[in-house]
Amino acid sequence: RSKTTSFIGLGRMGSEMATNLFSKQLAASKDAQFIVCDAVPEAAQYFRDVFTKKYPEAKLTIAESPQEALINSSTIVTMLPSSPQVKEVYGKHIIPGLSTLAPDAARDTLCIDSTTLDVDVARAVALEVGSKGARMVDAPVSGGVTGAKAGTLSFLVGGPEASFNIARPILALMGQRIIHCGGSGAGLGAKICNNLVLGVEQIVVGEAMLLGQKLGLDPAVLASVINSSTGACWSSSVNNPVPSALPDKSPPCERNYDGGFATALMLKDMGLATDIADKQQSALPLGKAAEKIYQQVVDERQELARKDFSSTYLFLKQD
Ligand code: NAD
Repeated sequence: RSKTTSFIGLGRMGSEMATNLFSKQLAASKDAQFIVCDAVPEAAQYFRDVFTKKYPEAKLTIAESPQEALINSSTIVTMLPSSPQVKEVYGKHIIPGLSTLAPDAARDTLCIDSTTLDVDVARAVALEVGSKGARMVDAPVSGGVTGAKAGTLSFLVGGPEASFNIARPILALMGQRIIHCGGSGAGLGAKICNNLVLGVEQIVVGEAMLLGQKLGLDPAVLASVINSSTGACWSSSVNNPVPSALPDKSPPCERNYDGGFATALMLKDMGLATDIADKQQSALPLGKAAEKIYQQVVDERQELARKDFSSTYLFLKQD
């Protein structure tokens, strides 16, 4: 059990993260064992087929349930869509499973949840996991699918220092920057605040790029002015929503807004920010306005929901 790592949730991010984690653990120890689990059995099977084709020596099995994964491993990483799935996986499987373990085995168990979810839900789950003797950290990520694939993610970690120190070398196999943000939920707090800035910023860059073109400006000239002036930001200089505005062809707008970070996921993250701000009675006028716009995009332009969130520009432009 001690050399086994489980990964639960093999979606766009999880499959890339698990590939890095497992391949590096395998390089360090031939005895390493792995378990994968996904609510969609085909996702787990697909991951196993691809991984074992590349690493035929890997001992990798598929668990029928997260509980089975937990019982047979000491490290569990989860990468799920949001709060309901984390509640389900931990509440129905992992927490009851921990109760069935011997105290020593429970104490040796580390749960790392990299999902972006509600701070209070994450804290409640971590408290329950802790009450059963195991360790848990929230470790949401920044860096997207490209960073997950390259192993260059930033992990924003919340949890006790001792748990952070145990999680750090594991996270380092999937990312480059591992930041201890504070106690339980602090990683998520940092992640939600960052995405609040990003969500607002991406819309306003779209507004400025649209207005500039209506004033007769060439988008490439306008982008270069903003990017070398006080309006410079990631949404303009890396994820500019207007094709040909940037000299390089890497932003999602250059491939019909495919890939990148889905509009529907940004809507979820804006919702997490507005919920927690209401609970904390913290002012969020721009965040709330931005959330409404993402909601409108998803409701009125369903084809943009899975496209990169810079496609809100098409909604503003009414294209
Ligand atoms: P995804 O929908 O591609 O993957 C989620 C996976 O979880 C799916 O394979 C799904 O079948 C599985 N799943 C759902 N419910 C389950 C359950 N009950 N038990 C087991 N498996 C279950 O999502 P993603 O893009 O990989 O994102 C995962 C998380 O990472 C989200 O919280 C997202 O906000 C965050 N995130 C995503 C990006 C990105 O660019 N995609 C960037 C940073 C953070």
